[in-house]
Amino acid sequence: MTLLSNYTNKLFNKTVAECTEQELYKVLLHLVRDKSKDQPTNDTKKKLYYFSAEFLIGKLLSNNLLSLGLYDEVQAELTAAGKNMMDIEQAENEPSLGNGGLGRLAACFVDSIATLGLNGDGVGLNYHYGLFRQVFKDNQQTAIPDPWLVGDDWVIRSEHSYVVPFKDFELKSTLYDIDVPGYKQEKKNRLRLFDLDSVNSEIITDGINFDKGNILENLTLFLYPDDSDHAGELLRIYQQYFMVSNGAQLVLDEAIAKGSNLHDLADYAIIQINDTHPAFVIPELIRLLGERGIEFDEAVKIVRSMTAYTNHTILAEALEKWPLSDIEEVAPQLLPIIHRLAEVVEEEYPGNEAVAIIDKQNRVHMAHIAIHFGYSVNGVAALHTEILKASELKHFYDIYPEKFNNKTNGITFRRWIMDANPELAKLLDNTIGTNWRNDSDLTAFLDHIDDENVIKALNDIKHDNKKKLQERLRKTQGVEINNHSIIDVQIKRIHEYKRQQMLALYIIHKYFAIKNGEIPATPITIIFGGKAAPAYTIAQDVIHLILNLSEIIANDPDVSPHLQVVMIENYNVSAATYLIPAANISEQISLASKEASGTGNMKFMLNGALTLGTMDGANVEIHELVGDENIKIFGKLSDEIIELYDTNGYVAKDYYERETIKPLVDFIVSDEMIAIGNEERLTRLHNELINKDWFMTLIDLEEFIDAKEELYAEYEDRENWLRRSLVNIAKAGYFSSDRTINDYNEDIWHLEKA
Ligand SMILES: *Cc1c(COP(=O)(O)O)cnc(C)c1O
Repeated sequence: MTLLSNYTNKLFNKTVAECTEQELYKVLLHLVRDKSKDQPTNDTKKKLYYFSAEFLIGKLLSNNLLSLGLYDEVQAELTAAGKNMMDIEQAENEPSLGNGGLGRLAACFVDSIATLGLNGDGVGLNYHYGLFRQVFKDNQQTAIPDPWLVGDDWVIRSEHSYVVPFKDFELKSTLYDIDVPGYKQEKKNRLRLFDLDSVNSEIITDGINFDKGNILENLTLFLYPDDSDHAGELLRIYQQYFMVSNGAQLVLDEAIAKGSNLHDLADYAIIQINDTHPAFVIPELIRLLGERGIEFDEAVKIVRSMTAYTNHTILAEALEKWPLSDIEEVAPQLLPIIHRLAEVVEEEYPGNEAVAIIDKQNRVHMAHIAIHFGYSVNGVAALHTEILKASELKHFYDIYPEKFNNKTNGITFRRWIMDANPELAKLLDNTIGTNWRNDSDLTAFLDHIDDENVIKALNDIKHDNKKKLQERLRKTQGVEINNHSIIDVQIKRIHEYKRQQMLALYIIHKYFAIKNGEIPATPITIIFGGKAAPAYTIAQDVIHLILNLSEIIANDPDVSPHLQVVMIENYNVSAATYLIPAANISEQISLASKEASGTGNMKFMLNGALTLGTMDGANVEIHELVGDENIKIFGKLSDEIIELYDTNGYVAKDYYERETIKPLVDFIVSDEMIAIGNEERLTRLHNELINKDWFMTLIDLEEFIDAKEELYAEYEDRENWLRRSLVNIAKAGYFSSDRTINDYNEDIWHLEKA
């Protein structure tokens, strides 16, 4: 009996060929779960706990098959039975336990930690509906719940449960585990997700609205419910405290079980705090150590030697500050601790208001707690870390220069090439051997730059991936793309600083040009994907503009053969795995200084797309690796932008008045647009671009248009384009998250390798 038929027999009394895709999904789920259940967990003395409010893990089936070394065998058996893995994967619900880059990074990290044989678990919450599912209606985004826990899933209910005290009640948690098998590893790690049995989806009314005051029933319902009102803000503090109190109790339990007397806790546990969301773990650990007999001063010392903080953004509004009164309403037991921590800081740095834990408005600065009471602060790309040191966190860098370090983000090659682009993975095997699968070193691929067969193979693979994308879009959205067109992609959260609106303005420019008879040599398909936060009105307006443009162009027979605009509905990890391998151009066009790192940029590079980008985040490092010839850089530099913010030097209207720009911006409120769109949204966006434009869309627009025209023209020299693509692939090894995690381990965690 074969691997699969064993299970199909047992579960459904059928052969593989007789099973439906749904049944085969269940078969594979059970197979993988059984295999990873049999693996022992990593168990070295010192253990890392990666605390994160988000783990954007995506579908796990094929990734876990790959890690467990079952992929080829399963694939062969399925093919023999006339079945196809891609169809089976459709049956898996995709957990949306993250917003974007930060959550996806945490998912790549747990994969790499396990793959490197390090003892480290992820700690977070088991949101029943994740973020939300994005649905387009009348060219606008609507949000509906996105259930993923439907019985046949990856979570395993554990026996662990902790009591978490809140002001007027206590809650008893349930811990769920998701196994994380490392690639070709004997031992596994786990994702530890805390939940509450009393959570009740019936309190959801319309869309994703629910009673925000009903903590017992709503606590782990959604990831980051809208916190634009007070009840929403309190709910986030409830979630954060629930996460860290459970997590801290887990840390203490496991350390004690391994023989810790708590005085030596730092020999057993390291906590990496992913952004500020889990920063309450610091006062909570001190509180719990106090309950277990450790004096405050010693507890502070212990925590200071075992917690490290990763900063993910320099957008001031994202550095959380909670009013003391809110914390008092949720978890008053933390207040005496927070006040004492504030005193410690005041004693150590008297009068230094910029580094205070509690500010004049009685708000608690979560990042400040994490920096003072942890031993490491890292940014996520070289430029980002330099900006933190020079401006955003300058006052902290002045007092703790030794704490600051950079850890440039990375992506797991298991998901982003082996799984997403198996044909390219095979080409690499055939040209440079298979070692890259273990060490992520692709540089030997450079030796093939003059090999016509390799160049042709790259072309064929890209074309095949375009066909796969075409088929998926046909199935999921009923749109038909041209697989002979240039595929030009911007997929990421919708945010003004990422400047999707700048690409929309380019599309208007191109629409006018084509109307004017300037026909592109190769047809162009521009693809967007991304969710907008429900409370972020301008981001919703940008989605509306894009969807309207898509419609106007599709309905214009003069233009539609040459230019198509598609917006992917509900952009998520699996959509990314289809889009990225098919892309020729990677749009990384954030306003310089605003994108901390980006990781989408790395995924595109690895899959042979050329980056069109500003000198921002990790684009700077991509540029350095591939050289000027193999990337298209444009736009103002971060120093100039920071200077403009400092001096209030950007005036949108001055740019708007230029004759190249005005017609593009005004098209947003043209009769043509208003006829199919929502006038309120369009006029608001128009007004925003002219009178405010906080993220300086217009400052780089002319340069952006020129850069795009150059890049499209360069695509016509296909051979040269493919060689540039090859260089990008060959240089992408640096962006393996295995490298990133190795760096974390060598500089911050110091875990022993299995
Ligand atoms: C990689 C990834 C992101 C991050 O993209 P950026 O371009 O770095 O912002 C967001 N969402 C998903 C689903 C991803 O896979």
